[in-house]
Amino acid sequence: MSYPTFSFELFPPRTPEAAAKLPNVIGQLAAVRPDYFSVTHGAGGSEQDGTYDTLMTVAEHSGVEVAPHLTCVGSTRMKVAAQLERYRDAGVKRIVALRGDLPATAMSASAPGEFHYASELVNFIRETHGDWFMIEVAAYPEVHPQASSSDADFEHFRRKVEAGADGALTQLFYNADAYFYFAERCDKAGIDIPIVPGIMPITSYSNTLRFCNGCGADLPRWVRMRLEDLQYDKQALVDFGLNAVSRLCETLLRGGAPGLHIYTINQAEPALRLWERVGSMATA
Ligand SMILES: Cc1cc2nc3c(=O)[nH]c(=O)nc-3n(C[C@H](O)[C@H](O)[C@H](O)COP(=O)(O)OP(=O)(O)OC[C@H]3O[C@@H](n4cnc5c(N)ncnc54)[C@H](O)[C@@H]3O)c2cc1C
Repeated sequence: MSYPTFSFELFPPRTPEAAAKLPNVIGQLAAVRPDYFSVTHGAGGSEQDGTYDTLMTVAEHSGVEVAPHLTCVGSTRMKVAAQLERYRDAGVKRIVALRGDLPATAMSASAPGEFHYASELVNFIRETHGDWFMIEVAAYPEVHPQASSSDADFEHFRRKVEAGADGALTQLFYNADAYFYFAERCDKAGIDIPIVPGIMPITSYSNTLRFCNGCGADLPRWVRMRLEDLQYDKQALVDFGLNAVSRLCETLLRGGAPGLHIYTINQAEPALRLWERVGSMATA
């Protein structure tokens, strides 16, 4: 795979109506020729079949490469082995390997089940399938919310790379300096896999707050205040969000980020409007 890469993330639709709309969304996104689509996977298995079915829908409606997310929280070696076999049989060559979100009652960062951390899943994939899969892992420029410290989180990221990750996709963030600092830290530590920024378009005040709170991302005060002002003027908010996120992407790409991974939330329009602004830079 050559870099920069750009990719779109989808999730398995949760209702028959959403499933009926998905082929059209995929078709619109595929028209701008992303390098691949990734499809999320419910931790604990809630969306396992949904992930596979969505991958098949993408393959059928786009011909673009697909990358399932695979979470290991609460799972077993046998179950993960069966999922990997199924993906391999379907011709999948790229996996996003994750621990997955812990149940709300969890008391530590260690997941229940036979895998405790994503590094163990990466090890398992390499042990059982060698280099068949290209493995992406998650990276946290603003530090994973359950990490005991920034240093500890960085060491855990390094473990995933040493276990055999080929690349990383970041958690969403709105602060380019956090990304550049993380990239610099990797560089100094001799970690040379591509770290592709995960980008969430802004189209709503409440959703943006919820996403940021959910994953510990810092929403700059000036952005939050402006979104609050504009929350009842949808068009103005969408325009402001597009400008802010386009500027973030331009800064990242100009500063050497090796592509963009766009969280679409299964909506074509915000991702495509962003792509119109920055696509030529991401594929240059
Ligand atoms: C690009 C991307 C895609 C995602 N897709 C999904 C998805 O499809 N489904 C889903 O459920 N979630 C998804 N998530 C969310 C992700 O599952 C959560 O952020 C989860 O809490 C951590 O997953 P991880 O793979 O980063 O875990 P890990 O890398 O295992 O890290 C989890 C925590 O444990 C700590 N840790 C790691 N190793 C050790 C160790 N050996 N000892 C002590 N502590 C350790 C880390 O510092 C961190 O705090 C995604 C996140 C990103 C960034």
